[in-house]
Formats: sequence, structure tokens, C-alpha cells
Amino acid sequence: PLSITDPVESDRICVCVRKRPLNKKEMAKKDIDVVTIPGKGMLLFHEPKQKVDLTKYLENQVFHFDYSFDDDATNELVYRFSARPLVKTIFEGGMATCFAYGQTGSGKTHTMGGDFSGKNQNSSKGVYALAAQDVFTLLKHKRYSDLDLCTYVTFFEIYNGKVFDLLNKKAPLRVLEDEKQQVQVVGLKEVEVSSVDNVIKLIEKGSACRTSGQTFANAQSSRSHAVLQVILRRHKCLHGKFSLVDLAGNERGTDVSNNDRQTLVETAEINRSLLALKECIRSLGKNNEHIPFRMSKLTQVLRDSFIGENSRTCMIAMISPGMSSCEYTLNTLRYCTLMN
Ligand code: ADP
Ligand code: MG
Repeated sequence: PLSITDPVESDRICVCVRKRPLNKKEMAKKDIDVVTIPGKGMLLFHEPKQKVDLTKYLENQVFHFDYSFDDDATNELVYRFSARPLVKTIFEGGMATCFAYGQTGSGKTHTMGGDFSGKNQNSSKGVYALAAQDVFTLLKHKRYSDLDLCTYVTFFEIYNGKVFDLLNKKAPLRVLEDEKQQVQVVGLKEVEVSSVDNVIKLIEKGSACRTSGQTFANAQSSRSHAVLQVILRRHKCLHGKFSLVDLAGNERGTDVSNNDRQTLVETAEINRSLLALKECIRSLGKNNEHIPFRMSKLTQVLRDSFIGENSRTCMIAMISPGMSSCEYTLNTLRYCTLMN
């Protein structure tokens, strides 16, 4: 069990890791758990106790995070120590972002709560819904109730460097940047909401749109970034914005022989955007003047979240615990520990 104290409210960047349980399929294949969470902010990547033929990737390795969550952690617990401390930011007039990062199948959508396939009864209680809940609670708080804030939601997908509106039948959208470097997604549907239920309905609608139809569309969803934004406006002017991002799977197309041209193009685009994201977050942490947001559509669209005094971000790295995933797991751990 984790023994954790209250989350730190001042850090601009918070990096967490969440280990999911071995699933039935992995157990059936006699996959072995090679990840241990010994305490609050630590993760051990280690040799399995059983004698099996060890791959070259396995060594005892220690990684440090702000928080590390074991495979028995609930979405509520993960939320409480990752995204929740950022909700206040948008009421104070700032920008907040929360990213779910990891290989396909590691638990990104499960954590964010964008899985409405019907197979997972409790999946609606992910970071999306929990954050929305806290937004509506704070709206009523005496400190903010006089501000006259209105709440809006957008939900879109970035696939292959193109933006699609999940609240408007996946309509393709253009991204424009004006001379002041203000970035705008032209025609993006912004729906006013007044309750958590409103938000959940929109998430359901958007998620269904994301994965609708054939397995092809399903596979595509793991190759795209999904961005849910909760926006606070005061007399129509932007007050604060919380972007919750279910990132594309970070697995690289290492087996090139198996990949067609389309997949290679997709993979190159995903790699570019994840690299850009890392650079932008690092710039944010160092208070750098220059933020390389133009490197990818993802970072361009999120530009205003990487600037300003009052921007904060949180990265949740998702880990599959099995030895069969260790190459991807190491990639994820390295990517995320380079962030701070
Ligand atoms: P991703 O979005 O990263 O591709 P998913 O969130 O779809 O991965 O997770 C893959 C499967 O594993 C889903 O069936 C999901 O319900 C399950 N899963 C993921 N994380 C957990 C967890 N922490 N506890 C239990 N089941 C999980
Ligand atoms: Mg997913």
C-alpha cells in the first residue's frame, strides 16, 4: 500500500507512473511481472525471481517519480495525486494539462475514462469525469462563485498531424496561427456545460465517434491523440483551460517489415509529436523563453498551455508490468524521467 502525503501544490510539472495489473491474456502466456513499486515515488524494473531466460533489457533499474501507483490503485487515487491539484489553476486564470502516456494497452484510456465500450462498468469515473466533478464543485465555491464563470467543453482528436472534431462527426479542422502566435482551431465545437452529466454525455459521444465502426477505426484510435478540454470563460473571454490528453501509443514501429507505408507515416508523426511534447514540457519546467511548440500539431494546438506564469502540467506514465512489454516499458520510463 502507498503511504502518501498531500500533493505538492506548487510544482509546475508533476510526473507520475501507474502500473496496471497483469491481464488474463498475459497470465495465460505465463508472462512475468518485472515491475515493483516499493514506495511513494519509486519504481523498480527488475529481473523476475523465477529462472527464465533473461532478455538483454532486464537489469535492476531504479526510476524516480513524484508519485508511483501500484496495480491496486484506483482511478480516484491516481487522479487525486496527479490531475486534481491542477484544477485550481484554471480558476486562478491559468492553463493546466494532464497527459496519459504509454504503449497501447497500458491503461491510458482506462485512466482518463474515455472507454465507453460497455465492457468496463466503472470506466466513466476516470480523470475526465473526476476533473469535471471538481470543476463544478469549485464553481460553487465562495471564492469563485462571484467571477461569473461559464464552462465549455471541446473534444478532438489529432491523427497524422490533422485535427478532427469528436463532438462534430469527426469533421476535419484547420489550425491557424496569427501574427501574435495565437493558435486557433477553426470551427472547433465548444459546448457549454452545466453539470458533470453534461460532460460525461459529451465524452461518451466523442469516444463513440473516436472508435466507431470497424476494427480499423479502433486501431486508429491508438494511433491518435485525444484531447478533452474544459474551458472557463468570463464574459466570453478565456479565463482558464484544462486539457486532458489521452496520447497515442508510444510503441515504435520497430518491426519495419510488418509495417505498410501508412503505418510508417503514422509512426513517424507520433514519434515527432511525442518528442516535441517532451521538449515543450522541459521548456516549461525551465521557464525557457523559447518553446518549440511548432514541432508538431499536438504541441501547436496546446501552445497556450506551455506559456504563461501560471501554467502547470502533469504526466501520467502507464506501465504494462509484463516482461513481454519490457522494451516499451523502459522507453516509457526513460521518456518520463527525462521530463523533470
Ligand atoms: P490504452 O488506452 O493505453 O491502449 P486501455 O486503457 O484501453 O489501454 O487498457 C487496456 C485494457 O487493460 C483495458 O481492457 C483496460 O480496462 C485494462 N486496464 C488498464 N489499466 C487497468 C488497471 N489499472 N486496472 C485494471 N484494468 C486495467
Ligand atoms: Mg486507448
